[in-house]
Amino acid sequence: MAGRNDYPMGSVGKTYSQKSIQKRLEAFFIDNVGKIVTNEMLIQVARDPITGKDPENWHQRLSELRTDSGYTILSKRDRSYLAVGEYILISTQRRESAGKRVLPTKDTWQAVLGRAKNCCEWNDSGELCLLKDGEKDPIGGGTVKLTPDHVDPHSLNPNADPSDPTQWQALCGRHQVMKKNYWNSATGKVNTQAIIQAAPHDEKVLAYHLLCEYFGYEPQK
Ligand SMILES: [Zn+2]
Repeated sequence: MAGRNDYPMGSVGKTYSQKSIQKRLEAFFIDNVGKIVTNEMLIQVARDPITGKDPENWHQRLSELRTDSGYTILSKRDRSYLAVGEYILISTQRRESAGKRVLPTKDTWQAVLGRAKNCCEWNDSGELCLLKDGEKDPIGGGTVKLTPDHVDPHSLNPNADPSDPTQWQALCGRHQVMKKNYWNSATGKVNTQAIIQAAPHDEKVLAYHLLCEYFGYEPQK
C-alpha cells in the first residue's frame, strides 16, 4: 500500500500562461505527476497570468479535470493520509471520457431558463437549489452560471431532443458536477463508489461498519 511518504511535495516551478484556468491546472498537474500539490499552488497557477486576477471557480475547473478530462486526481476524500486541500495526480493516464454531448437549441435553452426563472432546477427529494444565474454562489464561491443538463441519462434516452424543453433542465456548476459524479450516465446506475468517496469522514465510518456487518468482519478501530 502506498502511503504519504511515497509522494514528495510538488512545487510551482514556472509561470503557466495557458489561456484557460483548466488548461493551466492540467499543465501544472502533469508537471507534478506523482507529487502532492496544495490549494495554494493551484490558486497560484489558476490566477490569470496577464491580469493577475484571482481565479473564480478554480475548484470547479479542478472537478472538471476529473469528470470531463478523465484524470484521476486524488484528494483527502480518496486517501486518508492526504490533508484537506492536498491533491495527487497519480498518472497522466485519462479515463475514457463520456461520449459527445448533445446540447439544446438556443430557443429550447431560452424556454428552459424561462421555466426555471433563471434558477438552478436541482431537486434533491424536495430540496431545491434555486441559485440564480449571475449571482454570487454562497457555497461554491464565484458567480453562478447555469448550463443545460439532459434530464434522462444518455443511456436511457440516447436520442436527446435538442428542441424539446421538457427534456432539459438548468443546473448550476456544482450540481452539474454532482450529477456527473454520482450518476453514471453510461449505465444509468447510481455511482455508489463516488458517493462514498465524496462523503464526509463520519459517513465513511458508518458505511465501513455497514460493510463489516454485511461481510461478517469485526470492524478495526
Ligand atoms: Zn444548483
